[in-house]
Amino acid sequence: MTRAAELDATDPLRHYRDRFHTDSPDAVVSYLDGNSLGRPTTASIANVTRFMTDAWGGRLIRGWDEQWWDLPITQGDTIGRVVLGAAAGQTVVADSTTVLLYKLIRGALSLRPGRTEIVVDRDNFPTDRYVVESIAQDRGLAVRWIDSDPRGGVDTDQLAAVVTDRTAVVVLSHVAYRSGFLLDAAAAARTAHEKGALLLLDLSHSVGSVPLHLDDWAVDLATGCTYKYLNGGPGSPAFAYVRREHLDGLDHPIHGWAGRADSFAMEQGWVPADGIRRLLSGTPPITAMIAMQDTLQMIDEVGMDAVRDKSVALTTLALDHAHTELTPLGVEIASPEDPARRGGHVTLDHPGFRGLTPRLWSRGVVPDFRAPHGLRLGPSPLSTSFRELVTGMDAIRDEVRRPRRAEEN
Ligand SMILES: *Cc1c(COP(=O)(O)O)cnc(C)c1O
Repeated sequence: MTRAAELDATDPLRHYRDRFHTDSPDAVVSYLDGNSLGRPTTASIANVTRFMTDAWGGRLIRGWDEQWWDLPITQGDTIGRVVLGAAAGQTVVADSTTVLLYKLIRGALSLRPGRTEIVVDRDNFPTDRYVVESIAQDRGLAVRWIDSDPRGGVDTDQLAAVVTDRTAVVVLSHVAYRSGFLLDAAAAARTAHEKGALLLLDLSHSVGSVPLHLDDWAVDLATGCTYKYLNGGPGSPAFAYVRREHLDGLDHPIHGWAGRADSFAMEQGWVPADGIRRLLSGTPPITAMIAMQDTLQMIDEVGMDAVRDKSVALTTLALDHAHTELTPLGVEIASPEDPARRGGHVTLDHPGFRGLTPRLWSRGVVPDFRAPHGLRLGPSPLSTSFRELVTGMDAIRDEVRRPRRAEEN
């Protein structure tokens, strides 16, 4: 038996793969982009349909009173409990990660009035950098950049060197979107707190992949996507976490009726709702909140530690396979070798990867390309088998080896 077949045979999560919809006509033989858009579960296909016929179609407007108006809070609590390590009342589902970054960074400024700087790293996800820059420009603040290693990430010494008593908030990704570097979040929180600054984590690449302990780590604020490892579907809404001690003091700039105390009183003037609800602005996107519920339930069944164990086994196999099959062909590893510092995906670099990605996709092998020349492999522990990973990597090897015709160069 090959190593991949052995790992599959002994994988305690192997049966979870059967709960995903994998038999679409456009056959994919190796899906390695679960960190960008997770697969749908078969349960969620049925549940979204049932939501439309029974809940939307049947309950109609009554659904808001019966369930939907509170769903951002109740589902936020589930996300907090199952994947964030957050006690109830601190997590809400809303908007997109980009919009919640905006609200939370402005919220951090409201908690730290008079402070004039925001810290962020050069290799953070583009939207994080752009939102920080736009807020800094609007509010006349300075951005303090960390020049992080694109094949690693932000280390605590680098952070300590830029955080000062002028820093309002530090904005970092917990798992770097390109390298997969896993930040020491508790150490980052301590470093920020030593200077009285707040820590805001982007959890887009960690949630559902790496166990999180936001309450224990003393993280102040966090947000992240639900369409990656939580399989919420394209554009499903994001979540926001606000540490309990900050809830009462936090203001944000998009005062809407859904975040007002007693929304349906329709009164003059905005008064914040109690607790995390104040972070809401408009009507919650209920239909787009349904699909992620099944994945949350699966993770609740197995626990994040089992998910992480399989994730580490998948990325370890990917790196071992890359060392034997791909580095001899000039491919470089652009992710941490130490599993303790690695999230759920790995990136490989090769100058030919841009041209090669469409050929892989046409063979049903789907990683994604990240400029300048990275191929990112994001196996999803609940839906990706070890053999599926190796099938994809063998296709990558074949394509790297394939002699290029002149017009393809
Ligand atoms: C995927 C991702 C986003 C995407 O944000 P959207 O507002 O959903 O487009 C943001 N941050 C990180 C770190 C991501 O990986």
